[in-house]
This record gives sequence, C-alpha cells and structure tokens, in this order.
Amino acid sequence: MTSARIAIGFLLPAVMLVTAWLLVPLVSELPSSLAGIRTYGVYSVLGLGFVIGIAFRRGRVVLALLMLAAAYVCYAVWLEGGLAGFQARTVFAALSVFVPFNLAVLSLIAERGIFNIYGVQRLAAMAIEAAFVWWIVLTNKTELTVWAYAPLYDTRWFAESPIPHLGIIAIALSVAICLVVWYIKHSPLDLGIAVTGLAFGIGMDGIATPNFFPVFVVAAGLMLIVAMLQTTYGMAFRDELTGLPSRRALNERLMRLGSYYTIAMIDVDHFKNFNDTYGHDLGDQVLKIVARKIAKTGGGSKPYRYGGEEFTVLFPGKGIDDAIPYLEALRKAIAGYKMALRASDRPKRPKQADRTRGAFRAAKSVSVSISIGVAQRTENLATPGDVVNAADKALYRAKKLGRNQVRK
Ligand code: GH3
Ligand code: MG
Ligand code: MG
Repeated sequence: MTSARIAIGFLLPAVMLVTAWLLVPLVSELPSSLAGIRTYGVYSVLGLGFVIGIAFRRGRVVLALLMLAAAYVCYAVWLEGGLAGFQARTVFAALSVFVPFNLAVLSLIAERGIFNIYGVQRLAAMAIEAAFVWWIVLTNKTELTVWAYAPLYDTRWFAESPIPHLGIIAIALSVAICLVVWYIKHSPLDLGIAVTGLAFGIGMDGIATPNFFPVFVVAAGLMLIVAMLQTTYGMAFRDELTGLPSRRALNERLMRLGSYYTIAMIDVDHFKNFNDTYGHDLGDQVLKIVARKIAKTGGGSKPYRYGGEEFTVLFPGKGIDDAIPYLEALRKAIAGYKMALRASDRPKRPKQADRTRGAFRAAKSVSVSISIGVAQRTENLATPGDVVNAADKALYRAKKLGRNQVRK
C-alpha cells in the first residue's frame, strides 16, 4: 500500500472523529423540540447500518452493529448515571474488554454471511459474554470486578481515564490488530473496524461527559456503514484476484474518453498449457504477477482486467506511436521475468505429475509471455467499441505471427 493510499484511508476517519468531538456540545444544547434526536439518533444510525448489512450480506458488520447497540443499551441503563455502583463498574469494565476483543475477532475471521450456522455461532459467542457479565452482577462477584480494575501500568505516564487498564490495553491491541489486517488485506472494512474500536475507546474515555458516548457510538456506526459501502463498491469495480480495476470499471471509463486515445488488448500466451502443466493455483499466482507488471506500464496508462488471462491498457490522450514503446517495455519485462515456484505449487493433474515433476525440479522457475494488439481512435474507428475491436484484431495477428510481440 502506498503512503498516499494510507493517508487517504485515514482522512475520512479523522474527519468523522473530529466532527463527533465538535458535535458533543451541540447535541447537549439541542432545544427540547429536537430532543428526540438524542434518544433515537443512535438507534436510527445503527438500524440503518443493520438493514444495509443484511441486504449486502455483511455478517461481520451486522454483528459489530448489534454489539454497538448492546453497548449503547448498557450505557442508557447503567452508565449514564455515573460509574459509582458495582453494577455500573462491572458493565463498564466488561464493555471496555469485550467490545474491542470482539472487534478484533471480527476483523480476523472470514465473512460468512448472517443467516447460517456461522452467524448463529458468532451471535451465540457474544451472548455468552453478555451472560457472563450478567452472572457476575447477579452473583455479586465483586472480586472479579475489583480484579478487572487492577492497575497494570504506572499511571504517571498516562492521562487519567475511567477505563480500567485492562480495557485500555484491549482497545489498543484491538485497534492495532485491525490496522495490521487492513494493511495486509487492503480491505476498507478492516480499517472501518479499527476506527470503530478507536471511536468506541474515545467514547468510553469521555463517558462522564453528557452525550459523549452516544455521539461516538454514532460515529462508529457511520464508520462501519461507510466501510461497508466502500467494500461493496470495491467488489463491483475491482477484480478480486489481481486487484486491478474490473471490466465494469473499463466500460465506465470507455464512456468518458475524449477523442484522442489508444487501447491495448493483452493476452497471456499459451496460458491453457501453463494451467495444465503447473495447475490452476500457480496459474492464478502468475496472473497476479502479470497484473502487477501491467499496472506499472507507465505513460499515463490505465490497466484493467478484461477477463480470464486478458487485460486492457488504456492510454487516454496518447497516440499509438507514443504508446507502443511502453507496451514493448512491458512485453519484454514480462517475458524476461523468472517466477520462482513455491514448494507447495505441485502439478495438479496426477497423470502429468511424473512428466512435470522432473521439469519442476530442473527449472525451479517459470516464465510466461504476452501478446499485445494496439489501436488508436481515428475517424474510421470512432467509438471505443471500434477501437477495442481493432486492438483485438491486432492481437490476433500478434498471436498468428508467433506470440510475444506487439502489433498494431
Ligand atoms: P493463446 O496463446 O492463443 O492465448 O493460448 P491460450 O491457451 O492462452 O488461450 P485460450 O484462450 O485457449 O486459453 C485461456 C486459458 O486461460 C483458459 C484458462 O485455462 C486460462 N484462464 C483463464 N482465466 C484464468 C484464471 O483466472 N486463472 C487461471 N489460473 N487460468 C485462467
Ligand atoms: Mg485468451
Ligand atoms: Mg491466451
């Protein structure tokens, strides 16, 4: 992930958290005619996210929102009046540990929808946590609550917070875990979950200030909704395997091209053979590597995965003769790139295993080549569709002439 993308990723969460901070006093000053916002605002936002989450089948978001709603109910029932009593202290400590713990788990586990055995299991796990806290309260297990509030580090180094040290550590760990998952998977939802944990932590820290916690719960819920929408957008416009923009994104881009552009169609050579020899998994690995190279074509070009082992590179505002040197460089870069085989990348077909395993040992690395057809928009090729067809024909010529070449 580039630092620009990291910065853009953090921009919206930062704006939302600062806005929440500024909103707290305004919410407290709402005239009594608008007091309903205070009561129902939290439930409306969480409910909206809940409905979208069910429609989009985002089980992890639905669970996170349910948990935020449960935390808000706890706040309204036990915490709003202060943290003096045993019940309030117990509930507060439990929230400070279980909510971040659950968020980290939600970030680490796979998306498996809602209305199935996984959804039920996950909901049950959260219910068990709630039952555990209820049991502490009912049986008056004060020693557990006292234990939860035990100081774990030297407080001189940190600002005072009502959150027990155990909870502060849980929140910090949870946010860190979600950020690492986000960094590895580039998934907006994990950034959303990280920020949700942060917003929750800030809300807990300011629990004594009127309306502070509810406003930050709303911010956390909005963060989850935005992240969910970003994820679904990404699913529609990004190719999952290669991370390149998808065919749909290409079609939209083609609709708003000017009158001066060049289109290159790229096809991996003999890729069916490659799959048959090395297996589909290694084939996928190779497509990822090829896509990464294509993304670096340069010259102001935009890469897309057209489908299968075919890619498209757009050169808006560039003529064919200016584009070809970049495509030649790309072709050479791919043909000359030796890809190391991983030990686990075994040939998939048992029949061919004997034949290829020898080659596998001998070669240790493989390479592929690509053929490229290019066309530029002209009077005769007036629509993007015409240019794509012409590039396709040029690609066909490149294949017939022996592959691993650029043709126009
Ligand atoms: P040519 O040089 O003429 O392009 O030969 P080819 O074998 O590449 O052409 P063909 O279009 O017949 O085969 C394309 C193959 O690409 C078929 C399929 O096995 C493989 N393929 C398409 N999409 C994927 C994919 O997502 N992953 C993997 N591993 N293979 C794919
Ligand atoms: Mg093909
Ligand atoms: Mg091919």
